[in-house]
Amino acid sequence: MSCHVERPLDDDAWARFDALQERRPGGFDVIALVRPPDPAYGEDEERWLERARRAAARAPFGLHTHWTSPTHARPSGGDPADRVLREVAWLRERGLEPAFFCGGGWYSDDAVRAAVRGAGLVDCTVRGGQPSTGTLPTTHSLGALARAVVRPLPGYVHAYFHDYDLLDAGRRLPLAAALALLGRRARPLPQS
Ligand SMILES: [Zn+2]
Repeated sequence: MSCHVERPLDDDAWARFDALQERRPGGFDVIALVRPPDPAYGEDEERWLERARRAAARAPFGLHTHWTSPTHARPSGGDPADRVLREVAWLRERGLEPAFFCGGGWYSDDAVRAAVRGAGLVDCTVRGGQPSTGTLPTTHSLGALARAVVRPLPGYVHAYFHDYDLLDAGRRLPLAAALALLGRRARPLPQS
């Protein structure tokens, strides 16, 4: 289970995410794939760090790069791999060690994949397929998860949602119900 934390500085979205990660519905860790603050858009680094450290202390932590802006995930110029490496370095300088990566808007390219691998992060950007060394593909959206949990389960499930999904009770409650049901039916992947 992972959450694309798109609005880490939105108090309401953060409070919902924080509560869900703490509660661990279904017994699952929720990987926080967090978008770093973008000073070009006036985002507050100190408050961001406080929240990211809290999430990282509790569950697996990862980087969710938005290449263009807080609301425009995919690249529109520049060197995408370079931005990933700069964000990893920025996190590490502040004592945060990302273990996972997911490209904003599911963007990736050969150089980004090489940068992620070189930095030692597990890549969640791949949609579908089986986990392998260095990748933990994302397989289910919220809607797909809600349908999957009432059927014979596939061998591997990695569902994702966005922090802002939690602001909508029509999405938050089905998510909690699906996770509770999945928790009763699933076994975690063996640690290898
Ligand atoms: Zn995003």
